[in-house]
Amino acid sequence: MIHTIIEPFRIKSVEPIRMSTRGERRRWLDEAKLNVFLLPAERVLLDFLTDSGTGAMSARQWGAIMEGDESYAGSKSFFHLEEVLRDLTGYEYIIPTHQGRAAERILFSVATKKGDLIPNNTHFDTTRANIEYQGAEAVDLVIPEGLQPRALHPFKGNIDLARVEELLKREGHRIPFGMMTLTNNSGGGQPVSLANLRAYRELLTRYGKPLILDVCRYAENSMFVKLREPGMQDRTVKSIAQEMFSLADGCMMSAKKDGMVNIGGFLALNDAAWVEAAKTLLILTEGFPTYGGLAGRDLEALAVGMQEGLDEDYLRYRLRTAEYMGEKLKAAGIAIVEPTGGHAVYLDAKDFLPHLGPEQYPAWSLANALYLEAGIRGVEIGSVMFGKRRDDGTETYHSMELVRLAFPRRMYTQSHFDYAAEAICDLKANADKVRGVRMVKQARYLRHFTAEFEWAAS
Ligand SMILES: *Cc1c(COP(=O)(O)O)cnc(C)c1O
Repeated sequence: MIHTIIEPFRIKSVEPIRMSTRGERRRWLDEAKLNVFLLPAERVLLDFLTDSGTGAMSARQWGAIMEGDESYAGSKSFFHLEEVLRDLTGYEYIIPTHQGRAAERILFSVATKKGDLIPNNTHFDTTRANIEYQGAEAVDLVIPEGLQPRALHPFKGNIDLARVEELLKREGHRIPFGMMTLTNNSGGGQPVSLANLRAYRELLTRYGKPLILDVCRYAENSMFVKLREPGMQDRTVKSIAQEMFSLADGCMMSAKKDGMVNIGGFLALNDAAWVEAAKTLLILTEGFPTYGGLAGRDLEALAVGMQEGLDEDYLRYRLRTAEYMGEKLKAAGIAIVEPTGGHAVYLDAKDFLPHLGPEQYPAWSLANALYLEAGIRGVEIGSVMFGKRRDDGTETYHSMELVRLAFPRRMYTQSHFDYAAEAICDLKANADKVRGVRMVKQARYLRHFTAEFEWAAS
């Protein structure tokens, strides 16, 4: 019996990586104001910034690109995508958007108002920002284990039903609908169980509230359900996904994740009144309802990608990639979010850099050090992303300081992951030399994308 899980694809077209030296990276990082978002991608060796829109498309998808119908209205490619998404989700209305946050902005514009509360396991950063932009409040109610990086639980993305019920009782009149994020990206790419989703649905129904899913990584979540939830082993991932969709009233998706495309997203709903208002907004800012900000070829690539994203050999390899990285890091005594999630490994920067206090942004500092020493680009999920500078100039800090290494789909091979693991272990051995940072410039919303830093005095 052979245990090695191989990449279930072979490579047809390659893209060179520009190799670099530490000296070059030191200069480049300074030029980027110690913000890896501001680095030209060519200066990165292994780009684990995000798994969003960064993956490799298949030969079948590239073929589909040529089939794209670029008609302004009623494109054949739209009807193809609509058919695929209706079959998968069961929702009546499919509204394409250029990416996830466009679907978010449109839904929150039509379905929320100032003073509303939106519960979720954990809102993703753009989701939270779009809710706050409407004057509403994004409430994170993940189970307590979901906030403890090393608590072992098979479904750390589950929502805390007792706290949801308490919120419904106390503030029900302010809650237009509940949300659930599959998998819980900001909480470590952790899955939600079918049982938790069913119970959440029942709870919301008792209070007369709809449920909207954020399904960026629904396929990875469904594979976790198949692997971890009792009684699910013999089901197809697709049937598990279909049941999850059937428990909700609609969904938003950034198709740049499990949609296996470089750009795209959609909103899928059953409520005709919401859909009418959404289409009006869509025309205003995205485009006609049968293309929604995408080219016909993008719709076609997405229709194929939505099916490929459910392939169980692919998903098994996909989840194993993060697990493999996690095993190597843990063996070297490095603290990560456990168990590993679907799309990424999350380093616990508080543990990695115990000499840095929160005001030195340990996760941001670790992300910088990883780039400097090894050319690896990850992203801070900590106080720069989720903290805030109050109007009086004081700071709030996030409870977790993580560096997310997110893995593009079907792109890097095992030797890339071996290199990354070795580099991180090396950095850990010299962690006391990693310096903290000071934020010298920031924007009001989503500040991590553009903030500028200096090294803190050591
Ligand atoms: C990526 C993501 C979004 C936003 O989608 P974009 O395509 O980046 O606009 C929303 N929610 C979650 C959980 C995500 O991972």
